[in-house]
Amino acid sequence: MPDDTGSPLAALPRAAAQAEAFRRRIDEGPQRAEDDYHASLARFDEPLPEGGRPATEVIDQLVARATPGLQKSAGRRFFGWVIGNSHPVGVAADWLASAWGQNAGNPVASPAAAACEAVAAQWLLELLDLPREASVGFVTGATMANFVGLAAARSAVLARVGWDVQAQGLFGAPPIQVLIGDDAHATVYSALQYLGLGHARVTRIATDARGAIDPAAFAQAVTHITGPAIVILQAGQINTGACDDFARLVPLAQARGAWVHVDGAFGLWARTSREHAACVAGIEQADSWATDGHKWLQTPYDCGYAIVRDARAHWDAMSINASYLPVGQGERDPSHYVPELSRRARGFATWAMIAHLGRRGIGALVEQHVRVARLMAARLAQAPGVEVVNTVVLNQLIVRFGTDRPADEADRLTRATIARLQADGEAFAGGAQWRGRWVMRISVIGSETHEAEGERSAQAILAAWRQVRAQPSA
Ligand SMILES: *Cc1c(COP(=O)(O)O)cnc(C)c1O
Repeated sequence: MPDDTGSPLAALPRAAAQAEAFRRRIDEGPQRAEDDYHASLARFDEPLPEGGRPATEVIDQLVARATPGLQKSAGRRFFGWVIGNSHPVGVAADWLASAWGQNAGNPVASPAAAACEAVAAQWLLELLDLPREASVGFVTGATMANFVGLAAARSAVLARVGWDVQAQGLFGAPPIQVLIGDDAHATVYSALQYLGLGHARVTRIATDARGAIDPAAFAQAVTHITGPAIVILQAGQINTGACDDFARLVPLAQARGAWVHVDGAFGLWARTSREHAACVAGIEQADSWATDGHKWLQTPYDCGYAIVRDARAHWDAMSINASYLPVGQGERDPSHYVPELSRRARGFATWAMIAHLGRRGIGALVEQHVRVARLMAARLAQAPGVEVVNTVVLNQLIVRFGTDRPADEADRLTRATIARLQADGEAFAGGAQWRGRWVMRISVIGSETHEAEGERSAQAILAAWRQVRAQPSA
């Protein structure tokens, strides 16, 4: 135990040093976890310890066991899922949130956490150019942000017909019609399921080749709204980046009295760039929005925002009241906007990232990622047998390999190319099915991913494809 003075505080500088070493070397070696789950489990698996271990030894052991199983999501050549970089400034602020031991549950338990959230909330509304009177809940991610937005929607549309869902629940309540695009994110269905709205009783609306709602089908569907209704739109389809035509669809839905909720986990951030804001024009007319901090804003996991135009509906759906909890006068009470009471103070990391990048820096990051996505699409599309399936509108591209062969064969070659790329480790991208066919998904979201990394990664993908193509079985 080299520098352990016996104080548990020795764990803090040790963790900082280990973290810095990890981040300094992240671009070296394979851009993937070296251990799979089972190998990782074998490293951690040991009997419950009877006695304790010194602070720094615990941290060192944690690092030694975890490191081989850490995904390189914070690196520059990582294009898997849609995973932001856990920017060092956001991480440092988040460490402080933990080290300070603050409970963001109410403004007395942590005046600073509540106040910082209040300011970060206003900054977010300005950045995303949403109604300034909207309320913001700091949640774990877009899944819970969708849950909160849809809970406010459920409460409001039922209140309009005289039903108090908070008090009476859904038994005997007037039915709520839910309309949703066919290419919505899986987590929206989870939110519907948690809220008793069901994931199977929704009306699914046809989408176009890009995954955006077909306006004609939408116009037809809203004519069937007869009572309380919630319409769910999307900014940034997970595979194609497509955004619904908000300027056209939102007024149609609202004219029928529906509440419009938007899942804008990453797509909402197009608002921060003059160049790309047009993709989501009209989105500000919606009633609630879900978005992530841990994607385009680069905060560490976990961080998302539930934004609701009608703060009262938000509050009705979420507020927690008990005699032992202080009732503020004009203070922000963070627990009134989220499902939890005790909660980590996510406002600190949000505040720090916005303070670090500024409005211009955030818009520039969005523009950088769209440029890199377009560059990668252009490189890949030039190669024989490779097809970029979508038109790149934001930071997402999907690619198929072996498109000069029958479709089943192209499926196999596409999966083999993804596996080859991951095994080589020069860059990381995953796969998905799009319109029933396998594609490689490339999501450009890392804060340090510039053109040079895009170029290098596109060459690595093409190298993987050439190897797959050259195999005898191909
Ligand atoms: C990532 C994502 C989600 C889920 O967000 P989490 O942060 O994982 O909870 C929902 N919708 C879309 C469009 C997404 O990209």
